[in-house]
Amino acid sequence: MRLQTPRFKGKDHFCTLRYNLSGFKIEGNRIRFSHFYNNVPLVFTLPEGSQFTNVKQVDLFYDDIKGAYYVAIVHEVQSQQDYRDNGLYQAFDLGVTKHVGVNSHGKFIEFSVARPDTYWKTPIAELQARRDHCKKKSRKWQKLNRLKRKCERKQSNQIKDFQHKVSRKIVENTRANTILVGDLSVKQMPQSKQATPGLNRSTQNTGHLSRFIGFLTYKAALAGKRVIKVDEQNTTRACCVCGALHEMPLWKRVMACECGNTLDRDRNSAVNIMVRFLSQNALWTGYRQFAGNLRQTGPRIPEIPGHSQEAPCVSGG
Ligand SMILES: [Zn+2]
Repeated sequence: MRLQTPRFKGKDHFCTLRYNLSGFKIEGNRIRFSHFYNNVPLVFTLPEGSQFTNVKQVDLFYDDIKGAYYVAIVHEVQSQQDYRDNGLYQAFDLGVTKHVGVNSHGKFIEFSVARPDTYWKTPIAELQARRDHCKKKSRKWQKLNRLKRKCERKQSNQIKDFQHKVSRKIVENTRANTILVGDLSVKQMPQSKQATPGLNRSTQNTGHLSRFIGFLTYKAALAGKRVIKVDEQNTTRACCVCGALHEMPLWKRVMACECGNTLDRDRNSAVNIMVRFLSQNALWTGYRQFAGNLRQTGPRIPEIPGHSQEAPCVSGG
C-alpha cells in the first residue's frame, strides 16, 4: 500500500474536529472547547432548554455550502415508556414508490413515497454538463459546481424531511406496539441484474430505505414501541393464501394466483411479512385474530397456517 502524504490544504480548508468524551465542557446552555482558534476561545451558545445526558461525541464542522460552522452533539435520549407487546402488530412492505402496511385488524394502509429525485434529476444533470464544459477549477466551473451541490443538498434534504414525516406518522398512527418490516439485507431486488433503464436509479433507493428503517426504529423506541426486521425472502413471490411461488417482475402489480387469490402485490407481501413473523414466533392467538379479521377485507388466508402455508416459509429459510 502506498503511503499518502498530507496534501496541501488551502487557507479556507477546515477539518471536522471530533471530540470523544473530553476536550469540551457543557455548562448551562454553553459549550466550551479546550482548544483556541487564533487565541479566540471556542465557546458556543446552545439552544434554549436543551438537555444533554451522557454525551457520546461532539463534532465541530464547517458547512461550505452555507458558509457556517456547526456543533453536532451526540447524546442519549430516554424513551417515554418501556416496550410491551400488546398483542397488536403492524407489518410493512417498504417499497421504492409506496409503503404498504397491514395491521392485526386486517386493515391496509398505504403511504406513497415522494420522489424528489425524479424532479432534481434533470437540473442536476444539466448543471453537471455545463460545468464539465468549463476548464476545471476555473471561476465559472466553481460557480456551477456550487450550484450543482446546492441542488443535490436540496434533494437529499427533501428526501430526509419526507422520511422523517412518514416514519413519525407510522409510529404515531398505529396502536400496535410492534412494527414489522422486511429485512433489507436479504431483500431481493427483482430484475436488478438486468440493465433496465431507470430501474438502477430506483434500486439505489435501498440506501434511503435503510435510513428510513433507522428513523422508524428510533422514533418507535422513543414512543415505547419496537421495530422488528423479518426475513423478506419470497414475501413478494409467494401467494399469501396458498403459498405458491410466482414470478413477480416489477411491472406485475397484482398477485393473481390459481387458488383464486387476487391481491395488490405490495399488500400481498405485507400480509406475508405479518404471517411469517407470527408463525416464526408461534403467536397463534395473534395469527388466528389476524386471519379472521383479514377474511372480512379480502384474502382468505388459512385459519391455522397449514401445510400449504408452511411450505414457502421452510424453503425461504
Ligand atoms: Zn394462491
